[in-house]
Order: sequence, then structure tokens, then C-alpha cells
Amino acid sequence: MKYESIIGLEVHIELKTKTKMFCACKNDPDERHPNVNICPICTGQPGTLPVINRSAVNAVIKVGLALKSKINEITKWDRKNYFYPDLPKGYQISQYDYPICLGGELTIPNSAKKISITRVHLEEDTGRLAHFGHIGHSLVDFNRAGVPLMELVTEPDMTSGEEAGAFAQELHLLLRYLGVSDADMEKGQMRIEANLSLKSVGAKELGVKVEVKNLNSFKAVRDAIDYEIKRQTGILENGEKIIQQTRGWNETKGETVLQRIKEESHDYRYFPEPDLPPLNTNMEMIKEIETGLPELPGDKRKRLKSEYGLADEQINILVNNEKLAGFFEDVVSELQELEIGEKKQLTTLSANYILGDFLGLLNEASAEVDDVKIDAENFAELMSLIHKGTITTRAAKDVLKEMWATGKDPNTIVGEKDLRQTQDTGEIEKAVSKVISENQTAVADYKKGKEIALQFLLGQVMAATRGKASPEIIAEILKRLLN
Ligand SMILES: [Zn+2]
Repeated sequence: MKYESIIGLEVHIELKTKTKMFCACKNDPDERHPNVNICPICTGQPGTLPVINRSAVNAVIKVGLALKSKINEITKWDRKNYFYPDLPKGYQISQYDYPICLGGELTIPNSAKKISITRVHLEEDTGRLAHFGHIGHSLVDFNRAGVPLMELVTEPDMTSGEEAGAFAQELHLLLRYLGVSDADMEKGQMRIEANLSLKSVGAKELGVKVEVKNLNSFKAVRDAIDYEIKRQTGILENGEKIIQQTRGWNETKGETVLQRIKEESHDYRYFPEPDLPPLNTNMEMIKEIETGLPELPGDKRKRLKSEYGLADEQINILVNNEKLAGFFEDVVSELQELEIGEKKQLTTLSANYILGDFLGLLNEASAEVDDVKIDAENFAELMSLIHKGTITTRAAKDVLKEMWATGKDPNTIVGEKDLRQTQDTGEIEKAVSKVISENQTAVADYKKGKEIALQFLLGQVMAATRGKASPEIIAEILKRLLN
């Protein structure tokens, strides 16, 4: 029997606001001291009243607009009641039947598959528990209690770990473009749960749903889902039944583990929050947020392709590195005065150098574009020196390194280091003769038919002429003198 898997995700995202959701306490995820960013409101003391943080609402509207969701004109708050020591009020203020955003979609970049969004709503985060099993204590830190938390629920549109991982990655990128969250998964700023069920191919009836929690990296999303698909397939193939349950992900073992069996769905006894009136989202405000939206990752991909004709792999790197993309576009805009055909060649050359040698230097130094001494104008100048043949690609490597170290402009470096490509064949011939006389073994190998020996000799001449001679001319002279 063949099975297909049906996967939906629930993603919780801590919003990057100055203050908490319903009080003026600082929202500081990096605070090391416990229970300092707290007040009577976020610790749920009697007689206190919550006040809505409008910038958190606006952040969710921003996300909704980017996902093409419908923004509800009236949104309302509800109490979700449950008891847990990290929840001081005994209920969480959330949104039940009138979330801020309804519907929407997000396209997975490579497959172009659209994943539908069910809803996006706003709620408050809980505190954090620290367990000290060896002394039999648990401690609670309420710094996080009341931090704005956005919950995004997808339709069960995904079919594999790979697809769910790709969706999570694209959502993460979108959140960072929008600036609404750092979405650092290691810090728990983006937490993913997967709902997964299997059914026989073609069957109408849905399978039993299993929830997998604690997916704290894209890899965990992919691996846990793939593991769960295998596990459930095995059970069904044995003729057994899947039991509805919640499982966790054990990264070290690479397995999902049973957390609890769900008898029936929780009754949270949602009811309208009596201390907060429904909120009118206000069309003018929505329009204003819409005009302020940045270019989104999907649009950027399309534009980098149509405007510069870059390869998909290059586009992926640039979309994930906004600063590098900005640098690339600055370099290209420095090439403005060129005629079209030449500009196209130089654009391709620039992309190759920026994503090759330049990115290599950045990675080696763990630096970002704005930390380094090379500016777009000088980089464009280097590109045009290569393009015009003023310097060889071999010399360009040295010039780039010198630009990196000193911030000097490439023309100055070429002059100072005498790296201009030489057209003087007499000079090249002299260097070639010298290399031939000093490398008789390689010469003999070449004459025996070993092509690699020619490459070696070529390299020797390149080094002797410090990259000033073009490899084509050297090869030509080498062959002539050897034969
Ligand atoms: Zn507070």
C-alpha cells in the first residue's frame, strides 16, 4: 500500500518590539537576569489592566500584507485558560475567532509551490521554567511572560520534510526582511510544530494526526518529519493503527519521542477578554503599512533574474544576504554609462567576482560588506580593468587582495605594483625561455605527450611575469618555443 503524507505547520514567532504586549515592560530577549523586566500586569496581579501594544499589532498586519492575507477590520482578544507555572495569570490572552489575519500564501522558492496560510494571530508569550532536578526545584523567570508572540498556522499543504523545511526557511527570511523578528531559532524566537498524518493514496478520509513539537532548526523540521513519515508508514504496513498523540524531537537520537497521548482536544474554555475591547484595524493605517513594505524575498528573486540575468544559485545567495545584494547592485549602478552589451558582460563579471573571490574574502574574515574597505566604486573600476584587459584575471586576484587590505583604488594599485598587462611579446618570450631552460624535466614530459606539464610551465611563466601576461599569449609562445 502506498501512503501520502499531509503536513501543516504551526509557527510561533516572538516579535521584536520595544515593550511587551500588554504593559510597558522591556521586551529584551537578551536579558540575563531573571525577573527584572516584570510588572503587576505581566505577572497577572489582581486589579491590573492590559493595554494593547499597537506596534505588535502593526507588525502582524505587516506580515499579513506580505502573505496576501485578509486583514480583519475588527479583531478581538480572548482568554485561553489553562494552568501552568510559567503562566502567571492562569490564562493567556490570545485571539480565537477574530484573528488579525485570515488566509494568505507563501511560495516555496525552488519548487514555486504555494503554501496556503490559514491564519496569523497575536498572543502573549509565557515565562520560562528552569528545572533543577538534582535539588528537586524548578525556578520561573517571567521576563518573557507577556512578550508579543505571533502565531502562524498553515493549511496542510506540505508533503515532505524537505518541503516543510523550505517553507520554514522562506518564512524566516520574510520575517527578517520585514524586520518584525530576529526569528533566531536557537533562542526560541521562532518555534515550529508540525501536524502530520498519512493516508492511502487516493483515499478521501484523512489519517490520524500526530503533532511533533520542539522543532528548533530547519534541519530538525526536515529530519523529524521524514522520521515520522517512516515511523507511521511502518505502523500502517504492519496493519496497526496510528494513535493520536504529541511527540517531541530528540536531535541526538534522530528520533521523535512520545510526549503524551491525546484523549481528545484540549478544552481551553476560550472566552472574550473582558478587559480589552475589540480592535478596529483602521484602513488608513493598513494602507500606510502597505506602502512602507520593503521589497520581499520572492519579488527580489524575480527582479534579480529579470534585471541582471543571474543564475538561480547566485540569486539564492544574494537574497539571503541583503547587504551583499545591495553591494552588487551598487557596483552595477557604477557601470551605468557603458553601452548595453558591455554593461551586460560587466554585470555578469561583477556577479561572478562578488560571489566568488569577494565572498571568499568576506567568509574568511567573517566580515560583512559594510565592515570592509572596498567600496562599490572601486570594485566597479576593478571590473572594468579586467574587462578592458588592462590587467589579467591572475593579476586581478592580487589587486583585489590589496584593495581589501588597504582600501586603495585599483588603478593606483596597478600603477604602484606595475601589474598592467604587458603587450610586449619580447619580454614574455624572455620569461618563457628562462622557464624552459630551468625546467628541463617538465619540458621532457611535455614532449612525451604529458599535457599537464604544459600547465605547469604556464604557471611558472605566470608567476615569473607576476600575472602581467595573458595566459593565452604565454601559451602561444610556450608552444611555439617548445615545438
Ligand atoms: Zn510588565
